[in-house]
Formats: sequence, C-alpha cells, structure tokens
Amino acid sequence: MIIETISYVCTRCQSANIYKNGHNQSGNAQFRCKDCGRSSVLKPKIKYTEEQKELIMNTYLERGSLRGMQ
Ligand SMILES: [Zn+2]
Repeated sequence: MIIETISYVCTRCQSANIYKNGHNQSGNAQFRCKDCGRSSVLKPKIKYTEEQKELIMNTYLERGSLRGMQ
C-alpha cells in the first residue's frame, strides 16, 4: 500500500496553519489560513518518499516483466 503525504499551504504566506472551510460553488474544497485569514482553493501537493518512489518503480517494472511473459 502506498501512503500519500498530502500537505496544504497558504497561497499567500505559505503557512501550513490552515483548515478546511467548506466548498465553493464549483465544489472545490476551500481552506482558510489561520495566520493571514486568506480563504482560497488549494491544490494538494502529493509527496512521495524515496522509498515509496522505489516501490512504485519496482511494482511498475514487475508488472512490465509479467506482461512480457504472457
Ligand atoms: Zn496565510
């Protein structure tokens, strides 16, 4: 299982001190910053550790070789 680390930061002050603030009319999750008060729609940044990247690559290569054998 791959664990995704999703971090959100304020688009104005880059603070991670934010909280979910419902959704806008488009249905996108909105966030409000506790530090500067900015409210905006934030896109998640997905980070993988080196170990996870290796695992993904290994899984990919494994599938590729299995596919080649069939
Ligand atoms: Zn902020």
